[in-house]
Amino acid sequence: MSSSNVEKLVIIGSGPAGWSAATYAARAQLQPLVYEGAISEKNRMAGTLPLGQLALTSEVENYAGFPHGNLGAFLDSALPAERRQMMAPHAGEGVTGPELMELMRQQAVNFGTRIVTDDILKVDFSKRPFMLQPVDGPAVFAHCVIVATGASANWLGLPSEERFKNRGVSACAVCDGALPRFRNQHLVVVGGGDSAVEEATYLTKFASTVHLVHRRDALRASKIMAQRAHDDPKIKIHFNTALAEVLGDDAKGVTGVRLESTTEPGKGTTLDAAGVFLAIGHTPNTGFLDGQLELTPKKYLVWKKHFRTDTSVEGVFAAGDVADDYYRQAISAAGTGCMSALDAERWLAAQGA
Ligand code: NAP
Repeated sequence: MSSSNVEKLVIIGSGPAGWSAATYAARAQLQPLVYEGAISEKNRMAGTLPLGQLALTSEVENYAGFPHGNLGAFLDSALPAERRQMMAPHAGEGVTGPELMELMRQQAVNFGTRIVTDDILKVDFSKRPFMLQPVDGPAVFAHCVIVATGASANWLGLPSEERFKNRGVSACAVCDGALPRFRNQHLVVVGGGDSAVEEATYLTKFASTVHLVHRRDALRASKIMAQRAHDDPKIKIHFNTALAEVLGDDAKGVTGVRLESTTEPGKGTTLDAAGVFLAIGHTPNTGFLDGQLELTPKKYLVWKKHFRTDTSVEGVFAAGDVADDYYRQAISAAGTGCMSALDAERWLAAQGA
């Protein structure tokens, strides 16, 4: 194969890690090619659409550089009209996840990043140049790869949850919460972390009451978020409680839930509800790697060097939530995205590539 057919750097993934890596790599003249993921129903259900998890959230209050304020005019000037039209008008509050992601994407494009809107199905990291097989089109070869595929939402695995997916059961309040079926209804959110509180708070815009169902006696969420849930008159927290079954029928979809106590066996209750939103953590998107890179027991990519983004295969780097089961913040993902591009640049230079 002639070296002109080989990409210098392919980045897989399009969350904060992928775009930060792309911006740094493009400025280092590595001509990065980003596979941002496919726009498909399969990816919608799995929470792996382009732009990552942040595109599934509402306001982002803790990303440095984006205080509360009116960013509308800036967004209008910074993004191409056709992409701006797809987004809700700026609400005058903190930047939203989709806005932040579009801005990051545009910043990478401005420096020459090329983008393919497709998934990488499989890879061969056993020899160089590395091979990446997209869903559509021929295999792509690359001297260096950054894996920034993030993580996607977990499900409980209940048969009734599966039965009512898309008919009242969802793992993304921001995607689905505004649907007419949820207006002025009782809704259930399962989980006790920041995501659960964020989803519950968001759903109070539409619901009459949001029931936050958590298996333990205290929220895992950060103090400020937990306090927000406790203080919100529309949120009712059910501690020491698990979702046992989603109730409903084929005509109406979800009509309620059966809850069970996690501390008192046999004790439970049923609630009327039009929707159930799962917010019980995430699983890293590493399945397509088919065991070719070392993973932790929880399937996260392992960084092999201290404070470096090297994976177990030389020339393959990892950034963002796919390699982070601890911080999992947009800003830390962006930070490791930057690190991975610098690591890639130095590694490529050492190879003379
Ligand atoms: P998380 O912090 O891992 O919380 C997951 C929650 O789901 C926990 O409360 C856990 O219960 C519960 N859970 C897990 N498996 C369960 C099961 N099988 N049945 C019932 N409950 C189950 O995940 P996250 O809330 O998605 O947050 C992930 C990361 O993103 C965190 O670092 C968080 O700080 C960050 N985040 C930040 C923001 C923000 O700052 N605005 C927003 C969203 C997320 P236990 O508590 O009993 O383990």
